[in-house]
Amino acid sequence: MNVVVLGAGLLGVTSAYFLRQLGHEVVVIDRQASPAAETSFANGGQISVSHAEPWANPGAPLKVLQWLGKEDAPLLFRLRADARQWLWGLQFMRECTPARTRRNIEQIVRLGTYSRDTLQQLRRDTGLQYDQRTQGILHFYTNAREFEAAEAPAAQMRALGCERRVISADEAVRLEPALAQVRARLAGATYTAEDESGDANRFARELVRLCEQAGVEFRMSHTVTALRAAGGTIDHVEATDAEGRFQRIRGDAYVVAMGSLSPLLVAPLGIRLPIYPAKGYSVTLPVLDASKAHQVSLTDDEYKLVFSRLGDRLRIAGTAELNGYDRDLNRVRCEAIVRRVETLFPGAGDTSRAQFWTGLRPATPSNVPIIGRSRLPNLYLNTGHGTLGWTHACGSGKSIARIVSGLAPEIDFAFAGADRSVGTAAALRPSMGAR
Ligand SMILES: Cc1cc2nc3c(=O)[nH]c(=O)nc-3n(C[C@H](O)[C@H](O)[C@H](O)COP(=O)(O)OP(=O)(O)OC[C@H]3O[C@@H](n4cnc5c(N)ncnc54)[C@H](O)[C@@H]3O)c2cc1C
Repeated sequence: MNVVVLGAGLLGVTSAYFLRQLGHEVVVIDRQASPAAETSFANGGQISVSHAEPWANPGAPLKVLQWLGKEDAPLLFRLRADARQWLWGLQFMRECTPARTRRNIEQIVRLGTYSRDTLQQLRRDTGLQYDQRTQGILHFYTNAREFEAAEAPAAQMRALGCERRVISADEAVRLEPALAQVRARLAGATYTAEDESGDANRFARELVRLCEQAGVEFRMSHTVTALRAAGGTIDHVEATDAEGRFQRIRGDAYVVAMGSLSPLLVAPLGIRLPIYPAKGYSVTLPVLDASKAHQVSLTDDEYKLVFSRLGDRLRIAGTAELNGYDRDLNRVRCEAIVRRVETLFPGAGDTSRAQFWTGLRPATPSNVPIIGRSRLPNLYLNTGHGTLGWTHACGSGKSIARIVSGLAPEIDFAFAGADRSVGTAAALRPSMGAR
C-alpha cells in the first residue's frame, strides 16, 4: 500500500519506520524543514513506564484550583474564551474519579511496557545511538504526604508488571549520589530499574536516516492545509510546499500524527478529537561539574520536573500550561526551573548558558493516546500522546503500522477502531481511552 503519514514528530517517524518494515511505500509530510522540530524537539528524555499516573486523578481538582493564577504552578489552566479549552477541562474533571484513574493507569502502563520493549528491540536491530541511558528512573519526594500518596499507584503499577519499587531516602542517595546534597529534605522515593532515558530528538533524526535508507520519502517544509474526503474515504491531502505551491498528495491510507494540531485538521471531516495543547518547558544546560551532576534520570515530584542526563548536557523539563497554541517563553517559569536545579544540584550545570524551550503536548483528558482507525476507513490516528509521547512512540508506531496492515496489534489496549471508532459522540466521551 501507499501510506501517507502526516507529521514527522516522534509519532510520525516511528509510524513510518514500522510501516516500511511491513512493506509499505511511505511518504511523510511535515511543515517544518527538519523532523522532530516541534514538541519532539527538546522534551524531558524519559522512557518512563513508571510515569503512568495521569494528570487527571482524585487529587487533581483541588490542586488545579489552588494553582489557578499562580505563574509558577506545575499545572496551570489559563482560562480563555475558548470552548475547546472549557470542554477539555470538563472532560479532564470527569477523568479524576478513582475508577477512571485506575483504568487509565492500566492503559498507560500496558502501552508503556510494550513500547519500551519495542524500543529496546529496535536498538538491538539497528544499533541506534541517542545518548541513551539504561539506569532506571528515580522519582523522589520532598513532601511526606505526596510520598505516602504514591504508594497506591506504585502498587497498581507493580501489579500491572511495572516494577516501581518504593525505596527510602538513603537508598535513593545510594542510587544517585548527586542527591546527597538534599538528603535531609527527601521524604522517600520510588525506583523503576527498567525505565530509561535518551535524547528523543536525536533518536527521531537517526530513525529518519534509517527510514530514508529503506526508501521512505520525507517531504519537509510542506504544510497540510486540508484532508479531502470523497465517497466516505480520504481521497487526497492538500498541502503547500516551501514556495507556496499547491499540491495534492494521494495514498491508499493516511496516518494523522500532527501532535497538538491533529484535532484542527480532522475537525472539518466531523472527527472531534479531545486533544488540547498543554505547554511545557525545558531547560538544557551544559554539565559544569560532572561530580555534582545526576546520571540516573530523575523525577522531582514536588515541582513536577524531570531531569535527564543527555551526554554532556542536563535536560530539565516539566510544567504544564493550558493556554491555547501560545508557545511564548514565560520568564517566571524559566527562572523557577533554573532555581530548582540550583537548589537540588548546585554547580552541576552551567546556568549562564541555559537554553530554554517550550513545546505543546498533545494532551487528552485521560492521558491515554488515540491510536487506531477513525470512522473513515482509510484514515488512521496516532496522536494525543501528551506527557508520554517519547515513552509511547515505538509501541504506538508499531501498533498503528500493524492496524493499517490489517494485522492485530500485539497488545491489549483500547485502540480506536471499528467498535471504538473515533468521530462518533459515544467514542469521544472522556473515558474513551479506558475499558
Ligand atoms: C516539556 C515537555 C517534556 C516532555 N517530556 C517527556 C518525557 O520525558 N518523556 C516522554 O515520554 N514524553 C515527554 N514529553 C511528551 C512528548 O515530547 C510528546 O508527547 C511528543 O513529542 C509528541 O510527539 P508528536 O509526534 O505527537 O507531536 P510533534 O512532535 O509535535 O509532531 C507533530 C508534527 O506535525 C507537524 N505538523 C503539524 N501540523 C502540520 C500541518 N498542518 N502540516 C504539516 N505538518 C504539520 C509538526 O511540524 C510536527 O513536526 C514532553 C513534552 C514536553 C512539552
